[in-house]
This record gives sequence, structure tokens and C-alpha cells, in this order.
Amino acid sequence: MSVAENLRQVLKTVQQLAAGRPVTVLAVSKGQSAAAIREACLAGQVAFGESYLQEALPKQEQLQDLALEWHFIGPVQSNKTRAIARHFDWVHGVTRLKIAERLSEARREALLAPLNICLQVNLSGESSKAGVAPEEVADLAAEIAGLPGLRLRGLMTLPEPTADLSLQRQRFAALRALKALLVDQGYALDTLSMGMSQDFASAIAEGSTIVRIGTAIFGERRKTS
Ligand SMILES: *Cc1c(COP(=O)(O)O)cnc(C)c1O
Repeated sequence: MSVAENLRQVLKTVQQLAAGRPVTVLAVSKGQSAAAIREACLAGQVAFGESYLQEALPKQEQLQDLALEWHFIGPVQSNKTRAIARHFDWVHGVTRLKIAERLSEARREALLAPLNICLQVNLSGESSKAGVAPEEVADLAAEIAGLPGLRLRGLMTLPEPTADLSLQRQRFAALRALKALLVDQGYALDTLSMGMSQDFASAIAEGSTIVRIGTAIFGERRKTS
């Protein structure tokens, strides 16, 4: 199937699952060509997600004629914050104050509107997985909320893959509860970035507002850095 057909199928499924609630599909284009992104754009897709700066920049350059929205969804290294702040509209994987401060500063320097960010939460407790522990999220949110170059939009998670549907639901429900807690504390959060090709149905059932979908739209990825 073509990218355009896959995209139509994914959008239709997401729309059915969301049952009238707005859910954004982020097309994850890491490991995919600029031509594939262009094809998705021509089929109506606007928001694209990339994980590696050095891979994303040349593709963005080739696609400059299109009005696309770029989301950085990979780990943010501190020596890349300046470029990420300038070339992306969203960063989903913020896990440290230091990184947030650098992104905020770079965004201000470039005279751009505040960068939309999500805090990445590690719900499975695996030390190998990036993310803030659930019990540390409130403190990090408090520190980041005042940074002028950022707009804290919500939480993101990347759980370990499992075919166990109830475990999928459990993790996503935990992220939803965590966001509700922060909203109760007064943060104006509107985003739950959760769900990928294999588990987006569970994520939407638990209130996801952005699903990050790669292979179901573009097919298998080329190897990336
Ligand atoms: C690669 C990636 C995705 C997309 O994964 P698929 O299984 O291809 O849908 C989503 N989120 C993040 C953070 C990723 O790195």
C-alpha cells in the first residue's frame, strides 16, 4: 500500500477510536525519505516527528516549500538544544531542567514563539529507558513552568513494547492520572503524547491526544543512527 493509502487508513481508524474527541496523528518520519514525507503531506498530513537532528535537518531543508509542523521526539543532547529549538515546533522528550533551560534560551535568542514541550515519563521503571520517574514529574514541571521560551503542554511516554493489552492500558492510564494531578495543581496542560503503531488503540482509549505513528504510515524504516 502507498503512504497516502496507509495514512488514510490510520486517520480513519484513529477517528473511529477517538469517537469525536480530537486526537492528532503525528507521522513519525525518522528513517524515511523526504520524498515519503512529501507524499504524506500531499495526502493532507501536516505534523511530522523526527528523532535524530542530523537526519532531520537535511530533510527539512528539502521540504522548505511545504508548511509542515515538526516535532522532535528523540533524546535531546545538550549540544543539540540550540538547533532543536530553532528547527522544531515541539519537543516531546524533555527529561531534565538543564535541557529545558537551554531550549528556552535558544528559542528566545531566535525570537521565536515559545517552544511546545512535553515531559517524558518513565512509567515502567526500567533504568535503560529515558524519562522522569512519576514521583519526580511535579518538581520538574514546577521548575520548567516559568521558563519564558517554553510552553509546557503535557506528558509523553514511550513504554516498553508489549502485546498485553491490559498492561498497555495500565501504563497509559497512569500517564493520564499523572497529567490530571498536574492539572489539579494548576498547570494548563492539554497534551498526552502516547501511543505508536502497535498500541495506539489502547492509548486513545486512555485519553491520548497525540499518537506518534511511524511504520503503520510509512512502512519499515531504513536503519537510522
Ligand atoms: C519511532 C518512534 C515512534 C513510532 O514508532 P512506530 O512503531 O513506527 O509507530 C513513536 N514514538 C517515538 C518516541 C519513536 O522513537
